[in-house]
Amino acid sequence: MTQTVSGRVEALRAAMDGPVILPGDADYDDGRRVWNAGIDRRPGAIARCASTADVVAAIGFAREEGLEVAVRGGAHNSSGSAVCDDGLMIDLSLLNKVVVDPEARRALVGGGALLTDLDSAAQAHGLAVPAGMIGHTGVGGLTLGGGMGWLTRKFGLSIDNLLSADVVMADGRVLRASADEHPDLFWAIRGGGGNFGVVTSFEFRLHEVDPMVEFGLFFWNLEQGPAVLRLARELLAALAPDLNIVIAALNAPPAPFVPAEHQFAPGYALLVTGFDGTPAFAEIAARIRGDLPPLFDLVTPMPYVQLQQLLDEGNAWGQHCYEKGTAVAELTDAVIDVVAEQVPLKNFPTSIVLFYWLDGAYSRVDDDATAFGGTRSPQFAVAIVGFAPDADLLAPDREWVRNFWTALRPLALGSGNGYVNTMSEYGDERLRASYGSAKYDRLAGIKTVYDPGNFFHRNANIKPA
Ligand SMILES: Cc1cc2nc3c(=O)[nH]c(=O)nc-3n(C[C@H](O)[C@H](O)[C@H](O)COP(=O)(O)OP(=O)(O)OC[C@H]3O[C@@H](n4cnc5c(N)ncnc54)[C@H](O)[C@@H]3O)c2cc1C
Repeated sequence: MTQTVSGRVEALRAAMDGPVILPGDADYDDGRRVWNAGIDRRPGAIARCASTADVVAAIGFAREEGLEVAVRGGAHNSSGSAVCDDGLMIDLSLLNKVVVDPEARRALVGGGALLTDLDSAAQAHGLAVPAGMIGHTGVGGLTLGGGMGWLTRKFGLSIDNLLSADVVMADGRVLRASADEHPDLFWAIRGGGGNFGVVTSFEFRLHEVDPMVEFGLFFWNLEQGPAVLRLARELLAALAPDLNIVIAALNAPPAPFVPAEHQFAPGYALLVTGFDGTPAFAEIAARIRGDLPPLFDLVTPMPYVQLQQLLDEGNAWGQHCYEKGTAVAELTDAVIDVVAEQVPLKNFPTSIVLFYWLDGAYSRVDDDATAFGGTRSPQFAVAIVGFAPDADLLAPDREWVRNFWTALRPLALGSGNGYVNTMSEYGDERLRASYGSAKYDRLAGIKTVYDPGNFFHRNANIKPA
């Protein structure tokens, strides 16, 4: 397969503005790397596209040559779907331009932009769109699966703020998907992942977000876990819309604000954010300190763009990762028991469990308005993530992730299969269950219209009907 790509690659080179990188080229090893260091694949060629026309050329080349295709946005997906062995990797990293229209409160975002690119460009005008919590995640994969972060309670998922997208289809056509143009495609790309084509440009609605936010990190030891979760349950029951709380089971970082005796200690944290100068933040910080004094805390204002990069270093490229997601409607005592039992069983200090609380604007969108998997009822999205520096150290935490997930499953909302963007492994039944049969069948019907040959299948794959 590699020889086939090499033999005809001059035609692709001539057709593209961006470079085509082959095995042996200086950029090749860097170009094929993805965020999850456990993925080591060698594409036959990397088409680093600089324009929509380049993407059309790359897709045409792959189609004519019968090549397997992988699409790379930010390369963050832990399944490694951004890279394939042999075949053609369509790399969108040069398509990272963000153009903000502050009057219209719109942003045009290249299909390979990172969250950092989007956050900084929008915040230059005091604006933002809800997205994820790690700056080096790609806007592309994150948005096409849903996109949740600090602003989701306030403004919904990323897809709830998507107005249109330019999509290069498997047959090379470039379609605009919006409420008025190809509305079925527009519905499908809001949750249905990279199944329908390559998005070269996203158009988002922006919201005013004060450039300074309040941030608090409160940390307790393992034994206090059940008490922390009960406190979070109480706080979340009446949480002001300008606040957000993420619950994390993690080891204390070796940061300057962490007393030396607690650095690396396993425990639980509440990460609290307050937007737009809300006084509710100070009240909740005082209440946490009063009700359950933490081992240590950090409470500080910071720029929104800094909040969006706060966890970048802890989630840096180069770790081996295996993750599974699920959802629970509430932190019932039974859920708390499972969490308290499973968290101490992890092997490596960097492995982590996160509970994202989704309600407010998230829940004001109808279940069927987008292809997002799962329901819009208030709930916790749960991510159980094994992180380790090498495959051997990750192996026990891969089992830990699976066991934890299995223990939570009887208590989970719906099928328990969770957010499609937190799956390191797919599988037909799992995906169908994650979307629900009715939504999956609707997606499969749209896939049949736009990609009947399943050209785009290296993803959370929806099979044509
Ligand atoms: C450490 C970490 C933190 C995370 N935090 C969050 C979070 O806070 N919130 C959240 O919602 N998710 C989060 N995620 C999940 C994240 O949304 C997914 O991993 C997502 O797939 C990453 O997108 P990407 O473009 O970087 O990935 P890639 O690996 O490049 O892409 C994944 C797949 O998406 C498709 N794709 C990407 N870009 C395009 C495009 N332009 N056109 C067509 N298809 C495309 C392709 O099928 C590709 O294979 C996190 C993941 C990790 C590993």
